[in-house]
Amino acid sequence: MKHFTKSKKQLFEEFETVSTGLTDEEVEKRRKKYGENKFIEKEKDGLIKIFFYQFKDSLVIILLVAAIISFFSGNEESSFVIVLVLILNSILGAYQTIKAQKSLDSLKKMSSPKCKVIREHEQLEVDSSELVPGDIVIIEAGDIVPADGRIIENFSLLVNENSLTGESNSIEKTDEILQYEDLALGDQVNMVFSGSLVNYGRAKILITETGMSTELGKIATLLDQTEENVTPLQKSLDIFGKRLTLAIVILCIFIFGIYVYHGNTVLDSLLLAVALAVAAIPESLNPIITIVLSLETEKLAKENAIVKELKSIEALGSISVICSDKTGTLTQNKMTVKKIFINGKLDDEYSLNINKKIDKLLLDSFILCTDATDTIGDPTETALIHLTQKYDMSFRDERKDSKRISEIPFDSVRKLMTVLYEDKKGKYIIFTKGAFDSLITKFKYFIDENGDIQNINEEFIKKIEKVNNDLAEEGLRVLTFAYKYMDEPKDLTTQDEDSYIFHALVGMIDPPREESKVAVQECIRGGIKPVMITGDHKITARTIAKNIGIFKDGDMAIEGVELEKMSDEELENSVEKISVYARVSPEHKIRIVNAWQKLGKICAMTGDGVNDAPALKKANIGIAMGITGTEVSKNAASMILADDNFSTIVKAIITGRNVYRNIKNAIGFLLSGNTAAILAVLYSSLANLPVIFSPVQLLFINLLTDSLPSIAVGVEPKNEDILDEKPRDPNEAILTKRFSSKLLIEGVLIAIFIIIAFYIGLKDSALKGSTMAFATLCLARLFHGIDYRGQRNIFAIGFFKNKFSLIAFGVGFALLNLVLLIPSLYKIFGITRIEAVNFLQIYILSLIPTILIQIYKAIKYR
Ligand code: ATP
Repeated sequence: MKHFTKSKKQLFEEFETVSTGLTDEEVEKRRKKYGENKFIEKEKDGLIKIFFYQFKDSLVIILLVAAIISFFSGNEESSFVIVLVLILNSILGAYQTIKAQKSLDSLKKMSSPKCKVIREHEQLEVDSSELVPGDIVIIEAGDIVPADGRIIENFSLLVNENSLTGESNSIEKTDEILQYEDLALGDQVNMVFSGSLVNYGRAKILITETGMSTELGKIATLLDQTEENVTPLQKSLDIFGKRLTLAIVILCIFIFGIYVYHGNTVLDSLLLAVALAVAAIPESLNPIITIVLSLETEKLAKENAIVKELKSIEALGSISVICSDKTGTLTQNKMTVKKIFINGKLDDEYSLNINKKIDKLLLDSFILCTDATDTIGDPTETALIHLTQKYDMSFRDERKDSKRISEIPFDSVRKLMTVLYEDKKGKYIIFTKGAFDSLITKFKYFIDENGDIQNINEEFIKKIEKVNNDLAEEGLRVLTFAYKYMDEPKDLTTQDEDSYIFHALVGMIDPPREESKVAVQECIRGGIKPVMITGDHKITARTIAKNIGIFKDGDMAIEGVELEKMSDEELENSVEKISVYARVSPEHKIRIVNAWQKLGKICAMTGDGVNDAPALKKANIGIAMGITGTEVSKNAASMILADDNFSTIVKAIITGRNVYRNIKNAIGFLLSGNTAAILAVLYSSLANLPVIFSPVQLLFINLLTDSLPSIAVGVEPKNEDILDEKPRDPNEAILTKRFSSKLLIEGVLIAIFIIIAFYIGLKDSALKGSTMAFATLCLARLFHGIDYRGQRNIFAIGFFKNKFSLIAFGVGFALLNLVLLIPSLYKIFGITRIEAVNFLQIYILSLIPTILIQIYKAIKYR
């Protein structure tokens, strides 16, 4: 017998559950039995595999083979060290890979879907992965169905099962038993399936299957956890890296030839040339980008911006437009009723007379034409409940005493909510509340100042239009209330929303968030256009936008209906002038994104509703609200704001810009240092000087001065001056001509001082020359790390601001001096003892390039 043919009683018995939910103990038991409600993921690579993966580089293999040959031909010590260094390198690489993986995992956790479950009489929000068969779950518009289940209570549920059945229309669901045994999934209308989207209504379901046993689980192939997370920057660097590798390999073959020509053995020359190639190829570039991105993603998550994919951080840095919802994102979403227009008069919120029939009826409709309580629910409705409490009314008692017979829930397109009640006296009354413009044509009567009902007339319409506008000018959100009596009960349709008696206008404030103003200023400073998008009234929206700084003189505010009349071209022509869109519905958001993208702008768009998903997907960065957002919107977004706050978006953009700058700097640091090493080797070999660096020296430099300082450069803290730059063009190549020539000049500069050190040492011996050159290269690169901490000179940036950079320098400096001071290491490194004066020479020679670069920066950015 299939679940859809069973009665509710049978189902409750079969799953040993009740409508008030399972006990925690039972849930625990079932979780052990059925496992988590997730799809099984492909197993991750183990530590050993990740470690050996680091050796996949063909150059490393050549080096390894050469070292082994060299070991057997009598060069035991240095061969041994080469292998050791390669192993160390792999450990470092494996550590970086695992670290990056871990932080990706924790990100995934943070954005994992949630659902509402009833357990032990209480409604809780839990991770969907925690569901077990027999759980009672509430689903409503905007949710993603968390597991397969049978509907036990249905309130107009409409579900889209496209992902499972391919049917793109929403399916109307029921809680009744189906008679046939053989029904396709799409026809099992009393069931819901994992992964479907709830478009409308609400339902209580009993979970029948979880995890891999769900219909979606059965067809899902193993999900690959380590799904490709390559960012556009990494992709373009990959291409660049391949070309660079080829160039370096050719150069090293050339150097190999020269060494052999100058009488070195083939094996020695090979070791040298390959070690140089290994040192010069910036193989740590890609892992460094991943590490920097994942570190920053973790930091951002702590600042309430949860980025779902690493590549979004990069995109954040080039955003030039932020289209933001008003309510809750720019404002506090803490509504308070301030003004009421009733009986032909406008007054403050305390002016109602509870003994007057019409006034009391308005307070009744505040309680009955809402679903919120005084603490939970839509803030617009909570504000109404709060006011009734000021009049000593109890919403719980009132709701108990009246019976809601039918309702048409609020939705952001109709902008109305309507309910039909049977009151204590058995009379049927319809209450409606909603946007003024949605109701204005639906009035037949109004109540005059004497409390008499009159036919609606032009004069009264003009009057309420004026009141509505005045309230909106003050930045108030205005709700319009209407009612009418019915002779008999019925199922409401939108056709019933007509021939109303005008009841009242209610104005409520929703103050801007304090941070919004500053954040908007920061946007404008950073060349980013903030745009307000709202379902609210145009004048209300414009007043608030002015207040926050989004709307400036000369800007335009338009409404959804005006937008509809514009062609795509017209919209593109004026989109840069429009800073407020009012009374919009979710489809308008797509057109707005489109228009900006046509102008080549990178556009961020916020959203929270079930219908916002397409716009969030269309935007370059879709941003969902963590608190008020639906699961569907969170699923479609690339970033989730845990605090729903506009200023968090700006923080994330600053981070995005900074990360890009840091990564660019890390690349610059690596490439300029490597250039210096190659130039020094090239010069010494062409000039027929003794061998300048031993293979072990080169590998030591690679190990010590590549990873640590470049990560340190990569994690340079945010600097507010990043806001003085315009948004980055996402198509701009990272290695522009200017950037490449800068690298080259720095490489030449450092190489000159290495060669000077080499000559100083050569006066005593070849070994001393090599020692001095090696130490100078090492130290100069460590100093050079400081140059790449930012555009400005190091004192302007703040010497101590980046602790990691100080540590990287300290560790490098200490290790280098140890090598120079411990005689037992001399043979392995191919160095010799040097005097105190030589130390001084090394320190000075390696510091000069950095001093020159810093002076140049100080002059340039004065
Ligand atoms: P955004 O969050 O995009 O800034 P918003 O929250 O201001 O938009 P909606 O919630 O779509 O916009 O509200 C639009 C209009 O619908 C409001 O101006 C108000 O007149 C009306 N409205 C809002 N909430 C309700 C409600 N619960 N019942 C009836 N009408 C409502």
